[in-house]
Amino acid sequence: MASTIQVVLLGVAQDAGLPQAGCDCANCVTARAVGRNPCVVSLGIIDHTQQAFWMVDATPDFPQQLQMLRERAPGATFAGLILTHAHMGHYTGLIHLGREAMDIRDITLWCSSKMATFLRANAPWAGLLTDGNVAPREIIDGEPFSLSEGISVLPYQVPHRAEFTDTYAFLFSGDRQRIFYCPDIDSWDGLTFDMDNTLEVGDTALLDGSFFSEEELPHRDMTLIPHPLVTDTVDRYANKPYDLVLIHLNHTNPIWSAGPQKEWIASQGAAVGERGQAWMLA
Ligand SMILES: [Zn+2]
Ligand SMILES: [Zn+2]
Ligand SMILES: [Zn+2]
Repeated sequence: MASTIQVVLLGVAQDAGLPQAGCDCANCVTARAVGRNPCVVSLGIIDHTQQAFWMVDATPDFPQQLQMLRERAPGATFAGLILTHAHMGHYTGLIHLGREAMDIRDITLWCSSKMATFLRANAPWAGLLTDGNVAPREIIDGEPFSLSEGISVLPYQVPHRAEFTDTYAFLFSGDRQRIFYCPDIDSWDGLTFDMDNTLEVGDTALLDGSFFSEEELPHRDMTLIPHPLVTDTVDRYANKPYDLVLIHLNHTNPIWSAGPQKEWIASQGAAVGERGQAWMLA
């Protein structure tokens, strides 16, 4: 059956979103003026045949992003979540699963054992486990698992600030294409996933595009928040048979709007992600 499994980009911003709280940088001021909210980066996966959907990462924009999925798949069951790591933008949306909110029952939560241990050991997350809202299932580096018959997921551990948990990227595979999702990584040198030998024509790499250049955060020590720069990412992964789409944009990033940086990205055959953008996995 054709076109039954869809992957939707539910947001494209770095953990703190756009506009960011208390920020008066040009991007945040403009976003407020026009009412723009691109949401924190997250993926939705919809199996229209099985009438089920999953979310990858639970962001501070969870309510809005869950609604995007409900509208794209009316009547479908919210079947589970997959988490990359325990930084603010990637798991705090879990709070909406608990007793003050949805009070959901036993939803499958795919995460590393370190992530599950972190949740179990810390309030308010521990309540989600003791109250039976979520049922953790362990992911292991390099060991594929299935969401449904047509959706295979392969986790890859990646180097990223690990003060709370380890961090994972995921390769989602269906009959029709593959999508690699890596919102946070310190450096591409630490990636064990070989994009050039795995992704083919029609596949898509959704990669960390946090900062365009080091000039973006004059008041912060960039060595404390390491990310590959967009210029490096484009040099390495644009102009390939597969598509490169940049995600996890920091509020300071000049590629939020049209200009020479975004034009350069397009000239290299890459693109900046847009909330609502979708692909057919199968
Ligand atoms: Zn992040
Ligand atoms: Zn800002
Ligand atoms: Zn992070």
